Amino acid sequence: MQRRTLGKTGWELSVIGYGAIKLPLVSQKECDILLNKAIDGGINFVDTADCYGDSEEKIGLALKGRRKEFHLSTKIDERDGIGVRKKLERCLRRLRTDRIDLVLFHDVRGSEYDRIFDSGGLEALQKARTEGKILEIGISIHHSLPIMRKAVESGVFSVLMVAYSALDEDRLAADLLPMAHKTGMGLIAMKPLAGGRLADRPSVLKNRKFNQGESLAQVSLRYVLSNPNITCAIPGMMRLYELNENLQVGRQPRKIDREEVKALMECVGEAGKGSCRNCGYCLPCPEGIPIPDIFRFENYYDQYDLKEWAREQYQSLEVNANVCTGCEQCLEHCPYGVSIPEKMKFAHRTLQ
Ligand code: SF4
Ligand code: SF4
Repeated sequence: MQRRTLGKTGWELSVIGYGAIKLPLVSQKECDILLNKAIDGGINFVDTADCYGDSEEKIGLALKGRRKEFHLSTKIDERDGIGVRKKLERCLRRLRTDRIDLVLFHDVRGSEYDRIFDSGGLEALQKARTEGKILEIGISIHHSLPIMRKAVESGVFSVLMVAYSALDEDRLAADLLPMAHKTGMGLIAMKPLAGGRLADRPSVLKNRKFNQGESLAQVSLRYVLSNPNITCAIPGMMRLYELNENLQVGRQPRKIDREEVKALMECVGEAGKGSCRNCGYCLPCPEGIPIPDIFRFENYYDQYDLKEWAREQYQSLEVNANVCTGCEQCLEHCPYGVSIPEKMKFAHRTLQ
């Protein structure tokens, strides 16, 4: 398995990491097989989150006794000191370890960024680092380039985890990633298959031929890893065939060629038609609706079965989809043809 250095941490990570978001959807037995095969296959980075159902517990059980063979990462939703400390203790317990290599502030949005600094969250993780409970502090940000920029400029975080796939807009790859890489921040690509939208779909794949008969998912991963600023991509996996396909990508690294990029972009056009890519071009909505966040929660609800968490997140929004007036201002700005007002109604019905 090819490895790359994760910025200033100096860790040599496998280019494919294990994204554990889907583990709540499989049994402990399946999880034992998947995770052990992943480690045997050369994966040495496992990423989960406090809010991914019983994912942490399953990892703790499946990989007990193998803790030294991989870097373990989890993410915490809390921003204040008390909340962070409480959640961290629970993460350690559930993961059955006395040290987590990387802990990230999860899915940081809007004013939450400042709360990390002002209400003790960062301090709590720094203390945990001094105590040896964690090694590195990171931040995961899904789509806000201004917040990503702030995080890079702060110099506080060792790792930035970003949603990055062939469906994501170019500004991220062209601007933010090289800037972060230059500062020595380690960059990890989450959602490299766009939350499952770039997983294979026969209707989209008809007549599409990638080199060596590779699947859409494999070529999409190669696309992400062709960006030299990215250390590791963490596709969510819950089936053995997914693991095997992804292992193959990491074991036989190659940059995708122009023809493949062309074919991939044609698929992306089809796979992404009408789907939100979290670019944020539709903002600001005159009513203050955080449109991309709402679509992301809906994706969590649908694709990852994190129904309770997605609802909680939606219900904690200051402004939700229910106030959409149907003014259609956002439609003019969305380059991907998402029927936003219509989908806002649907999202509200699903998540309220
Ligand atoms: S709705 Fe359209 S413009 Fe808004 S974030 Fe999604 S893809 Fe981008
Ligand atoms: S249609 Fe709804 S979501 Fe779009 S800009 Fe108007 S109020 Fe905001």
